[in-house]
Parts: sequence; structure tokens; C-alpha cells
Amino acid sequence: EAKKVKNSYAFFTKEMQEKNSANITIEQELRSALQKNEIYMVYQPQINADGTLHGVEALVRWKNEKLGFVSPADFIPVAEATGLILELGNYITNRLLLEIKKIYAEVGKTFQLSVNVSIVQLMENHFLKNLLEMIHKVQFDTSLLTLEVTERLPIEDLDYVLPILKSIRAEGMLLSLDDFGTGYSSLSVLTKLPINELKIDKAFVDELLYSNKDKNLVKTIINIGKNFSMDILAEGTESKEQVDKLKEYGCDIFQGYYYSKPLKKEDLIAFIRSLQC
Ligand code: C2E
Ligand code: CA
Ligand code: CA
Ligand code: CA
Repeated sequence: EAKKVKNSYAFFTKEMQEKNSANITIEQELRSALQKNEIYMVYQPQINADGTLHGVEALVRWKNEKLGFVSPADFIPVAEATGLILELGNYITNRLLLEIKKIYAEVGKTFQLSVNVSIVQLMENHFLKNLLEMIHKVQFDTSLLTLEVTERLPIEDLDYVLPILKSIRAEGMLLSLDDFGTGYSSLSVLTKLPINELKIDKAFVDELLYSNKDKNLVKTIINIGKNFSMDILAEGTESKEQVDKLKEYGCDIFQGYYYSKPLKKEDLIAFIRSLQC
């Protein structure tokens, strides 16, 4: 065992070592982040083709006293690798459900709440039971909750995950397949998953106006999704040109800086009020 570790060091580059020690710092700080109240949520609006509000995606934010703002793209993988994602996920969900209920009351209407769920969370034995407990405690309507699962789901885990996904649907929640097009899921996988929504990855939206290849791919994704009666959501839409093209191809929902960046609670309330008048 020790020998194996020693040998593998031969392949470590300087960059990898730096990344590794940065991750150790992230891990140490993350362990106390919840107690220190450093974690909070922001919400990015998701807009229907007719300009009305479909819902929001909840995105986690972490402001640490030593590290400053740490991107979820940097700390979520560390949280997954260390198992801290389970505690973090519960903390996030608890806070979210309460905060969103307050926002519903303030704006006088409900809307869809999308939450990112890591595959590590999904694979944990008590995931659904815990989630339902939190939902029931605050009496949240399950049909207003969309769980975003990434397409980068290891195929060998599918047999285990599929019944869980089906139970989630049976409880009335919706499922969205995140980052669609970046993984390797085949059409046959898509037919098996009880998915309500496909999220087209930002990478394709970025290239949409310039690359014929990506344009055709996006058209194909939209048509496939439609055939399975799924909603199609395009993420990372930054310009009117992108939104117009995507609308022309039949895309249903849009999320991106063109409409809004992720917003804190008070700013989200103001945004929703501005849509209504
Ligand atoms: P994601 O789920 O693909 O989230 C979309 C990311 O794109 C977000 O980055 C969002 O702020 C960003 N974004 C949205 N619209 C635009 C746009 O028009 N232009 C550009 N340049 N970016 C845009 P963020 O918030 O940094 O999150 C990064 C990733 O971290 C997320 O990717 C998701 O995989 C993960 N993540 C975020 N919050 C959570 C969470 O609460 N739980 C879990 N498990 N993962 C999370
Ligand atoms: Ca997402
Ligand atoms: Ca995404
Ligand atoms: Ca993405």
C-alpha cells in the first residue's frame, strides 16, 4: 500500500501538487463553514418562452474569511470526494425550502424550485427518506421541486439509481438532466430515465451562433427531448440572439445572464415583482 502511494508520486506534476494542497485547505475550511454561517444560496431565474417566470435554480455560495469567495465548481468536487457533500446537501435543502416558502409568500405566487443533487447524494442510502422528512416538516409541495441530476452519471450505477429516480417521481417531484450533451449517455439511457426536463449545456449555447455542428446538435437535442415529452431548458443564454435562435428551434425555458445573474433573496423578489408589472 505504502509502495503504491510512493510510486504514484512520480507522476505528480507541480500543478497537481498545488491543486492538491489547495483542496486540502478547502476541505479544512469547508468543515467549519456551516457552523460559521459562511454558506448561503442565490437564485437564478428560469424564464418561459412567453417571458413569464418558470422557476429558479438554487446555486450555493461560500464566502470564507481566509479564502474569500470560493466557486462551487472548486468546492463541490472536494465536498463530494470527502463525503462532506451529504451534510452540505442537507444544510442547503433545509435552508432552501424555508427561504423559498418565504419568497412565495412575499411575491404572492409559487414557482418551480430547481436544486442540484450530486450523484454522491443520490447514491446515499437514506437520501430520499431524509429529503421527504425535510419537505414534510415545512409542508413544501413536492411538485414544485425539481431535482437536477447530472448526465455524468456512471452507467454502471444506473441499476442502483434508476429505482431511486422512479421513487422521486412517484413522490411528485420532477427530474431534470443537467449539462446535457457533455456526458456520454446514449439514447437508450435517455429512454430509461424518468426525466421531465433536459438542460442543454452552456457550451452548446455558446457556439450556437457560430458553429453549424453545434447548431445541428442543439436542434437534435431539442427534437429528441420533445419526442420524450420533456421540457427543454437552455442554460447560459447571454444574448437576445441566442434566445431567439433557441426559441425558433422550440426551446421552452431560458436561464442565463441575458435575463438575470443568480440573485440573493431580496433581489429575486424585486426581479419577480418587475416581471409581473
Ligand atoms: P450548473 O448546475 O451547470 O450551474 C450553472 C452555472 O452557470 C452556475 O455557476 C451559474 O452561475 C452559471 N451561469 C448561469 N448563467 C450563466 C451565463 O449566462 N453565463 C455564464 N458565464 N455563466 C452562467 P455556479 O453557480 O458557479 O455553479 C457551478 C456549478 O456548481 C453548478 O453548475 C453545479 O454543478 C455546482 N453547484 C452549484 N450549486 C450547487 C448546489 O447547491 N449543490 C450541488 N451539488 N452542486 C452545486
Ligand atoms: Ca444545475
Ligand atoms: Ca447545468
Ligand atoms: Ca453546465
